[in-house]
This record gives sequence, C-alpha cells and structure tokens, in this order.
Amino acid sequence: MRIGIYPGTFDPITKGHLDIINRAAKLVDQLIIGVAVNENKAPFFPLDQRLEMVEEEVKTLSAADSIVVKPLPGLLMTFAEEQNANVIIRGLRAVSDFEYEFQMTGMNSRLNPEIEIVFLMAVDKYQFISSRLVKEVATLGGDVKAFVSETVADALKTAIAKA
Ligand code: ADP
Repeated sequence: MRIGIYPGTFDPITKGHLDIINRAAKLVDQLIIGVAVNENKAPFFPLDQRLEMVEEEVKTLSAADSIVVKPLPGLLMTFAEEQNANVIIRGLRAVSDFEYEFQMTGMNSRLNPEIEIVFLMAVDKYQFISSRLVKEVATLGGDVKAFVSETVADALKTAIAKA
C-alpha cells in the first residue's frame, strides 16, 4: 500500500491545490492531505475552518474515497513517519517555489532518506494562483471565483466582512 502525504497550509485551498490533489491521488493508494497547524504563520483561517474547507473540496473529487484530511501539528517528517507514508508530494509553480523547496527537500531527506519527496508541476492555467494573492484580491473586493470554489469564495467574503 503506497501512502502519500500532500502537506500545506491551505489558507485557503485553491484550484491549484485541487489540481495537485487530483493528480497525486493517481500516484498512491491513499493520499493524506496534511493541513499544517502553522500557528507561527498566523493563518487567515483557523485550523478547523481550513480542515473543513479542504474536506468539502475533496468530497467533490472522483478519488475522494482514497483521500483523507488530517491536521499536521509539527514536523512534516515526524508526521510522515507516524502515518507510514512512502512519499511526500509538493506542487511547484515558478522558480520562486524552487529555491525554498530545494532547501526543504535537502533538510527533509536528511531527516528521513527513506521517504521520497516528489514534485508535481502546476498546470499552466493555475500557475499563478497562490493562497496569499487570493486573500489579497478578496480583501480588496475582487472576484476570486476563478481561483477558488464558490464555497471558499463565500467563506473569504464572510471572514473579510467580520474582520
Ligand atoms: P505551504 O505553506 O506549505 O507553502 P501552501 O498551501 O501554500 O502551503 O502550498 C502547499 C503546496 O501546494 C506547496 O507545495 C505549493 O507549492 C503547492 N501549491 C500552491 N499553489 C499551487 C498551485 N497554484 N499550483 C500547484 N501547486 C500549488
């Protein structure tokens, strides 16, 4: 049984993330989406809501039965070991992602060389989507439905109105 982990902050989950999830699900028997607690990053959405949004999105996928969503509290490699994962999957957009991912992969593969880290290239239509820019556009009153689902767009609207 091949178990893969797709870790991220998912603050919030975007169409770019969903594309990676769909493709990653084809590579493993079970895909665990690890939603990073990341308190130090001060996420816009609390962990509970990020988990709930990812779960809602996953339900719409044909591979839903082979995907589980879990909070990722600490170190990625510790989580991966606890979950008996064989592989970690990350998405790569532009050169800007590469530098960071290159360093992280170097560190992580020393922590546990048994777990492979695999990168999936973002598809061109979602290359430019980032949770950070989605939040920026939504905060400034822009329409984000091209980048996130309607549910997530509504959640952004509600959170911004409350802020
Ligand atoms: P992190 O805090 O780990 O960067 P993110 O939620 O921003 O968390 O991203 C999780 C993973 O998804 C990362 O590997 C990131 O590069 C990838 N990713 C984010 N947006 C996209 C996108 N539009 N297309 C493909 N991969 C993406």
